[in-house]
Amino acid sequence: MRKESQDLSWLGAIRKRGPLSNEEEKSYQRSLNGLQGEVAFDQLYRHFLGNETDCLDDVTLEYKGDVLQMDKIFKDKNTIHLADIKNYQGNYVYENNALKLGSTTFANDIIEQARRSRRIFTRLFEDYHLPLEIQNVIVFINDQGRITLYDDLPEIVLNYEEIPGWLMKIRNHTQQSQEFDWQNLIQKYQISSYATSRICSTERLNHLKKGIHCEKCGSFSLKSTRYTFQCLCGHVEIKQIAFLRTICEYGVIMHHLPLKRSEIIKFFGEKYSSDYIKKTLSNYFVPLNADIKDGKYQNYGQPFNYWFENEATRLEKLEKRKNWHSSF
Ligand SMILES: [Zn+2]
Repeated sequence: MRKESQDLSWLGAIRKRGPLSNEEEKSYQRSLNGLQGEVAFDQLYRHFLGNETDCLDDVTLEYKGDVLQMDKIFKDKNTIHLADIKNYQGNYVYENNALKLGSTTFANDIIEQARRSRRIFTRLFEDYHLPLEIQNVIVFINDQGRITLYDDLPEIVLNYEEIPGWLMKIRNHTQQSQEFDWQNLIQKYQISSYATSRICSTERLNHLKKGIHCEKCGSFSLKSTRYTFQCLCGHVEIKQIAFLRTICEYGVIMHHLPLKRSEIIKFFGEKYSSDYIKKTLSNYFVPLNADIKDGKYQNYGQPFNYWFENEATRLEKLEKRKNWHSSF
């Protein structure tokens, strides 16, 4: 599953409850745009190649001191494709070894970054005697953006309309390939993706809007029924899940600290029962110390869907409550 970065989660969580600085808003839009491009490519990839084709998404790899990040890695015959997905708008030009947009020339451009990744992967595969070719694929996923190449490049560069044809071409190869354990090798050197370096100060936290907001539209005016919260936009959410989601949201915002019971109760505000919050913490979260009296729980700094992704069955039981007594 492709996940948003912690940085994007952090910015998104703050943004629902208070203002972002100009720099933060720009980063938020840039990361969101990047993620949307990756998701769009994933959809095309699944459409043409199906789910059975092996690939790795969002790989951060460290090998012999070099760190790189790759949007998608997949194999075709004896070639490993390293895909960089660019959700750019505008007319880019590549000539004389430089990427240009209008009169702007980029110093450390996407082609050079791709080549660096390829060098690191080549070294890794050679060291392990894995006889696979490595090929960069740079994908311009936005139909409002394109790149024109004036240089002859060894990299595969695809504009939006070229993507389906290219994926169909590799579809015919992917099945009959000889198997090498390339995924295991990569995973061996995979490191967790970058944690955000942004910190929310106590003062900023105090100024953020308190309470539970609608998962869909962000509104804080929710109508409470026995088992659910209902929003004017029509969205209905199980109460227990809304509490869990909000605790995780606090965890994202304050990712640098343990979850602290008293702080979380403040984050919910007076409208919400502190007993219910306490019960939710003790039922679903891991205490930091054996002595639970200090009210501190482990903070993974992840949004609800990622934090609880392995507890689907337990949460499905809760989902059933949506249909019970919905008129309370
Ligand atoms: Zn809503």
